[in-house]
Amino acid sequence: MTAGRPHGRTAVLLGLVLVASCSKVGERLGVTRDRVIALEGATLIDGAGGAPKRDALIIIRNGHIETIARVNEIPVPTNAERINLVGKTIIPGLIDAHAHVERWATGRYVAWGVTTVRDLHGGTDTVLTLKNELNLGSILGPRMFSAGAMIDGTPTTYPNATGVATPDQARRAVDQHAVAGVDYLKVYTKITPSLLRPLLDEAEKLHLPVAAHLGKTDALTAARMGVISIEHMAGVVQAATGDQTYANAHTSFLTGWTVEEKGWASLDSSTIARTARALAQTKVAIVPTLVVHDMLARLDNPILLTRPGMEDVPESAQSVRNVPSLLRRTGWRSADFDAFRRSRRRQDQFVREYKRAGGAIAAGSDAANQLLIPGYSLHEEMALLVGAGLTPLEAITAATRRGAQLLHADSLGMLAPGKVADLVVLNGNPISNIAATRNIALVMIRGRMIRPDSLRATWK
Ligand SMILES: [Zn+2]
Repeated sequence: MTAGRPHGRTAVLLGLVLVASCSKVGERLGVTRDRVIALEGATLIDGAGGAPKRDALIIIRNGHIETIARVNEIPVPTNAERINLVGKTIIPGLIDAHAHVERWATGRYVAWGVTTVRDLHGGTDTVLTLKNELNLGSILGPRMFSAGAMIDGTPTTYPNATGVATPDQARRAVDQHAVAGVDYLKVYTKITPSLLRPLLDEAEKLHLPVAAHLGKTDALTAARMGVISIEHMAGVVQAATGDQTYANAHTSFLTGWTVEEKGWASLDSSTIARTARALAQTKVAIVPTLVVHDMLARLDNPILLTRPGMEDVPESAQSVRNVPSLLRRTGWRSADFDAFRRSRRRQDQFVREYKRAGGAIAAGSDAANQLLIPGYSLHEEMALLVGAGLTPLEAITAATRRGAQLLHADSLGMLAPGKVADLVVLNGNPISNIAATRNIALVMIRGRMIRPDSLRATWK
């Protein structure tokens, strides 16, 4: 249905209103008309795995990258604001491919160079409201994409999840999420194969990708059915062993996690390699969140609550700080932590084999869960990916371009002409030491320059 052609005068008025509101939004986003910035002299890492470019000249116009060249190769536009970055390194704005975004954390992401987040569960209304505020620029923070509430079997693990018990309910949950305005869906541990199939069928009709934190469905089954990502590598142990015990354990979330986490240690090298190859063939991406596995294996170590980065977490942020409550709920003791630590090298090996098999690996942090610091923990994840066998360049690609691919957001996660000007200026070069990603001089989001120190001053 259309309203017909408006009268001439009404059309003019409407036009004026539109221009006025557009420029207002533009101002809020820090994009004024024809603002040109020239970043000169840094080493450029494009986020897509290309060889680093020395002496780069990046011309940014109105929040987008217009040109990338070598210094002195092309003239700098006369109206450009020139910024000398000799000795620095520029990487794309980081993308956290597995986050649970809380309102207090939005500025923290930006301070740590994370300019986009893939949110994978919160209350649908609260996270979609936050997403709209962030994306309209009314609060400062990363670009946000969201799954809304996760879809789980019944009874749901979390009270604010959407529970489904029948194929009809699974389809209806997909439709309701689509209407609410989610960007993709997240399925959780209690979703069985017989629920996953109709859910994926409905999601495909509505063009919604499905991210999976698996429990009752193994990773190979879910990947062959068409999920876009395997979160935390959940479901891999079951796929590798074919042992139904793991699926059964997931009737309780904590039992499932505990049994599966220990199960990694039982896998041998050839089983891991074979499973990685089979899974990579399905083209599914993995979001290993090694930092979650690592933190949970060391949850009994009180030092982690005072490590660098924690100073950014307010005392009131219970989701990150309340380790004792998790210890109480899980009942984990030192024998459990020993078992989790034995599993870590098998998880690392799986990541290495997945890379060798040509599989896509995206970096995600699972912040703001226990001990996981919004923004900072993505740097920890990159370092752990390097520890598992990725090169620093590959770890940066995992935290940039691979995340954008999961979001189907082609203009993000890569520095090239036409892409958005979300980028991070580093004081050092991460190619020789991945820890250099944490030493941030400047962050640019939507073409707006932000100094992390000035941002931190607003919450200190
Ligand atoms: Zn999560």
